[in-house]
Amino acid sequence: MRYQTGLYINLGYLGENVEQLRKGCKNNEFIFMVKAEAYGHGMVQIVKYANSELKIKEFGVASLGEALKLRKELPDLKFEIYVFSDIQLELHPCSDLYLNHRIIPVISNFSDLDFLLNNSNFLNFPICLKFNTGMNRLGLDCGLSEVDKVISKLKNRGRKSIYHLCSHFSSASESMVENDKSRRQYEKFKKIKKQFADEKIEVERSSISNSGAIEQKFGLEESHIRPGLILYGPSALNKACRHLSWFKGKNISKLLTYIIDVFPVKRGMLIGYGETVVPDDGVIALIALGYGDGFSARLTGPSLKFEDEVGEVLGKVNMDITQVFFRNIKIKNLKAGNLFTVWGHNPQDILDLADQTDTICYEHLCQLTARIPRYYCD
Ligand SMILES: *Cc1c(COP(=O)(O)O)cnc(C)c1O
Repeated sequence: MRYQTGLYINLGYLGENVEQLRKGCKNNEFIFMVKAEAYGHGMVQIVKYANSELKIKEFGVASLGEALKLRKELPDLKFEIYVFSDIQLELHPCSDLYLNHRIIPVISNFSDLDFLLNNSNFLNFPICLKFNTGMNRLGLDCGLSEVDKVISKLKNRGRKSIYHLCSHFSSASESMVENDKSRRQYEKFKKIKKQFADEKIEVERSSISNSGAIEQKFGLEESHIRPGLILYGPSALNKACRHLSWFKGKNISKLLTYIIDVFPVKRGMLIGYGETVVPDDGVIALIALGYGDGFSARLTGPSLKFEDEVGEVLGKVNMDITQVFFRNIKIKNLKAGNLFTVWGHNPQDILDLADQTDTICYEHLCQLTARIPRYYCD
């Protein structure tokens, strides 16, 4: 465990983000996505706060194991959990776990649907169906005859309603104005809903929008939205269309480390593993962060700021240390022992880091390892 380096999570900012999203999406309930340890922030703490303080009642995870962890650690709280991807209904004894802990599997194929419908223990259990409207990953096919097949299976078992109908956008981080992928998917989704309505199967709840869609106010006609990233602060939109977002969140986390050492360098010097050439005269600050903390060795080159000075990650990121190079040799507080902010509460920090490293904020957050302690304040 790191001693000084840590991810500091302001739960009050999570509250502000939720509040802003509620104001912008007045007619929608949330399924708050907390998979992958709540995008690296600590799933149990985030759910505990969101449920007890912010009154969020539904959460989404990817795997049964995550859902069980929530039930085990938060036995006194009342909330619904959906498992979206890693469903193993037929694997004994998984189906009992869904039943006994009221964990809703999101059904995305016929074998799981058949299992659920034909197992009398699930007679009154909520059914959540996910259709593939164009993502072509998980999901029931949405052709007329496939939807009919689903409907007749439901009718054959005496089902008159389903609890939740959902689908997932493939390209919500792109502009909805400039391409019609999401619009085409949404049209298909509406057709599926109409088929259910025509056949008198009630759809009690529905959702399709993840962060990128919500930021463009797309898909808000459904009862629910499924925000993930934006609740943690950053925009999910690609750089080129980020201006389209109405949502201005605060990054709920800041990643703080400290300066292990600072030393002057001359142009042409060779430093670190593989002997990287120093490009100019300047100083190097060694910070207590490396790929052992989830600051990937692939991420060489991005700029990191110290106060208002822009430095750059120089040479290879080590397991425990990263070298940050500054051309200005007289930065007042750049001293051993002082704190160094990798990203702060302004979401632009982590967005810049993601843009410069050719990846997405999601990855920067999720890949922080267990060596980084998470600290919470309100
Ligand atoms: C992760 C996930 C979301 C949330 O996505 P964001 O882009 O983080 O908002 C929504 N729906 C499903 C099914 C997901 O797996």
